[in-house]
Amino acid sequence: MYQVYALKYGERDTTACQFFYREPSHDPLTLHFYVWLILGGPHPVLVDAGCREEDATARGLRNYVSPAAMVARAGVRPADVGTVLISHLHWDHWAGHALFPAAEFWIQRDEMAFWTGPAARFDVYRQLTNAPALAELVKLSYEGRARLVEGERLVLPGLRVHWVGGHTAGLQIVSVETAAGTVVLTSDASHFYRNVERRQPTQIITSLPQMLAAFETIQRLAGTPRLIVPGHDPEVATRFGAVEPGLTRIA
Ligand SMILES: [Zn+2]
Repeated sequence: MYQVYALKYGERDTTACQFFYREPSHDPLTLHFYVWLILGGPHPVLVDAGCREEDATARGLRNYVSPAAMVARAGVRPADVGTVLISHLHWDHWAGHALFPAAEFWIQRDEMAFWTGPAARFDVYRQLTNAPALAELVKLSYEGRARLVEGERLVLPGLRVHWVGGHTAGLQIVSVETAAGTVVLTSDASHFYRNVERRQPTQIITSLPQMLAAFETIQRLAGTPRLIVPGHDPEVATRFGAVEPGLTRIA
């Protein structure tokens, strides 16, 4: 049985109409930026690598704390993180990879193919990445530190990744068995509770049908809707109750 923590490393303000698919409301919307830590296995497992300070500054994140510092606050040395499950390769999930120098990174083959393929040159996609950090991924692959997976894969007993696509070509979500039931870390398959609960997509997509099907996959995998953990929702701290500011125990 695993323990799961959501670790917040920054915040950014936008509006509902900028974010949700065909949303007319101009209401303010705050995104929280997270990595997720899974303890209780043979070694700590992290979901996503966050970003480094230069990305946070360039992208206008408030209250940035290094994801490595947040992992340390949860009692784990960043150098002891052996596995990082990368949900997808957008800057806020991948550009912090160097903060975890001993990790092997698990990435869906479709995700690698997309960002090293012909569509990455288009500005609507390129603006979502940190290109030098993506180039480092190719080097990591040659060093044997990138594990390319396809579809659903067992990471450790009771811990799996599942390809869903939609938001990006190779987006993967994570299911974790805990004492409370199966937790689903959706990352950006559902940025907010509102996405999965109202079946409302976000604007950033490579496939709308895949994003809609992903909402069904999330609900099928979760032991209960209460154990769905969206990727950028400030309400995570409210619904689960933060242990301390920025650190929330999910299960
Ligand atoms: Zn994101």
